[in-house]
Amino acid sequence: MASVIILKSPSQLKIMEEANQIVAQTLSMLREHIAPGVTTLELDTLAEKFARKHDSVPAFKGYRGFPGSLCVSLNDQVVHGIPSKKVVLKDGDIISIDFGVQYKGFFGDAAVTLPVGEIDTQTRKLLSVTRESLYKAIEQVQVGNRISDVSEAVQEYVEKHGFSVVRQFVGHGIGQSLHEPPEIPNYKRNGRTAKLMSGMVIAIEPMVNAGGHEVKILRDGWTVITKDRSLSAHFEHSVAVTDNGPLILSHGTDANFN
Ligand code: MG
Repeated sequence: MASVIILKSPSQLKIMEEANQIVAQTLSMLREHIAPGVTTLELDTLAEKFARKHDSVPAFKGYRGFPGSLCVSLNDQVVHGIPSKKVVLKDGDIISIDFGVQYKGFFGDAAVTLPVGEIDTQTRKLLSVTRESLYKAIEQVQVGNRISDVSEAVQEYVEKHGFSVVRQFVGHGIGQSLHEPPEIPNYKRNGRTAKLMSGMVIAIEPMVNAGGHEVKILRDGWTVITKDRSLSAHFEHSVAVTDNGPLILSHGTDANFN
């Protein structure tokens, strides 16, 4: 991956917003289908069909060999869960769905974590803190701020509420590639990070564990789970840096969230 941050023109941002709106609409559509008894492969099929119907291509399918269109990660799974007809949603689960598309040469990428049926109060708190930490990060998306301002906003908010942020996986720049520089960690790293410039587009994606921050990868080579098997949540938006502040390209993924 090249190390240069690629700035986008206003007309490119317009296309990226369209790409991200296909993602946002897919996530909203999936939400209507999430219920006990549904398999994660059924969700994957719905997502792929929806994306293709809207003149886009699922971005994750085949990416480094990933078998699904959707990353679906349940409960102690953090990210990159593989859709399967053997995985059946049940009451009390939490499901993280991460989706990306390629549209007119540009990528969109967003994620939400949703309850299946009824979940307990502490789990509900994990979801709302993770979601809120994303918006705390987005507030920092201002010209002249640094990536570290975005990272620290997530970490501070999450840790204040007694949860931990995953370190092994991070957010990223996005554009004509799904993953572009710079990396967007959800925690403070040593050293100076890049300044935010108008025209940058970043996918900010806090992954938050109810227990410790350590994770491990299952033998399928993809599924990331918490090392202590505690629950994990994940929210993501693709956000453009503009002279007027942050522009959430994937807006609408989490309307009426509760
Ligand atoms: Mg992403």
